[in-house]
Amino acid sequence: MKPTVFIPEPIASPGVELLRRHCHCRTPWEEGITVPPEPDAEGSAPHRAAFREADAALVRLFQVDAEDIRNAPRLKVIGKHGVGVDNIDCEAATARGLPVVFTPGSNGRTVAEHAMALMLALSRQIYPSSHAIRSGTMDDRNRYQGVELAGKNLGLIGLGRIGSRVAGIASAGFGMQVRAYDPFLPPGSAMGAAVLEESLEALLAWADFISLHVPLSDATHHLIDQERLELMKPGCRLVNTSRGPVIEEAALARALREGRLAGAALDVFEEEPLPADHPLCRTPNTLLTPHISGLTDSALERASLMAAQGILDVLQGRRPAHVANPGWRENRATN
Ligand code: NAD
Repeated sequence: MKPTVFIPEPIASPGVELLRRHCHCRTPWEEGITVPPEPDAEGSAPHRAAFREADAALVRLFQVDAEDIRNAPRLKVIGKHGVGVDNIDCEAATARGLPVVFTPGSNGRTVAEHAMALMLALSRQIYPSSHAIRSGTMDDRNRYQGVELAGKNLGLIGLGRIGSRVAGIASAGFGMQVRAYDPFLPPGSAMGAAVLEESLEALLAWADFISLHVPLSDATHHLIDQERLELMKPGCRLVNTSRGPVIEEAALARALREGRLAGAALDVFEEEPLPADHPLCRTPNTLLTPHISGLTDSALERASLMAAQGILDVLQGRRPAHVANPGWRENRATN
């Protein structure tokens, strides 16, 4: 019998087509059924049940908790479409001896381009000036004077796949000076266009623009809090395409209201989707996009294929290329 792969959220067709050659795919979204935002929200029971009956699951932002993993007796692999695996209880998967395969690099270029787009939009006031024209309130174009990126200091927090791409584009393409803080880089790693800064505090005080590219973990939760916002240069502009909880949003909203920062552009939030009455929807000089940094046709096709291939590799007994929880092998026998 063909294994069943549960795919709760839409993914690009190349990945589904590849899986369908070898597996039965359950794709509720193809019948117009969407995943409720919270795992325990009304209407989520059929999704949880489908997860627990599957041999494999391929998820995007669908929450997979320890209980789901414990109650899925046939589950052999979880595929993550993307690189941030914070929506999956990887510890529970490791304890069950289940690999979490993921798609590092599939959207690096795409996210880096979005981070640059946000930086450019902030530097040239693209959103407020466009809004002023469309709403008939444009009275003085000098209010929308911008700053050049050339020669400005860009501070990157996290210099992995995405951060290093941003460093390359910002330095070679825009003539920015780039420094990065990343205490986990192995000694001797190539920094490319960025100069490594040993202290986060020094980086915050130096940068005109700051862009965040760290994974969400206990160590990065509220990494940018009130105290660290106060260390930033007055007039600094902050971009976040990593994960919302890396910034303490209430403190950021205060800094923007008080005019201590020149602007913030955020693609990710502590709560998603961001409620329309959230304070950040009313702060000045704030540009918001709804977690779309990784969404381009090229990136989505690459991610769907990589995740599908990782799942097939596990189901067919091959070694998967990209595993987010390498420790799973030690507990494999108990699976
Ligand atoms: P990566 O693993 O290649 O790089 C992350 C880097 O952050 C690593 O070099 C790591 O050493 C560093 N780091 C970890 N903790 C740190 C800390 N406390 N301070 C400074 N640096 C730290 O990951 P990536 O592919 O570059 O992606 C980065 C993050 O971007 C992902 O974890 C994901 O959450 C997010 N992301 C968001 C979107 C989106 O749609 N908005 C899309 C893709 C990725």
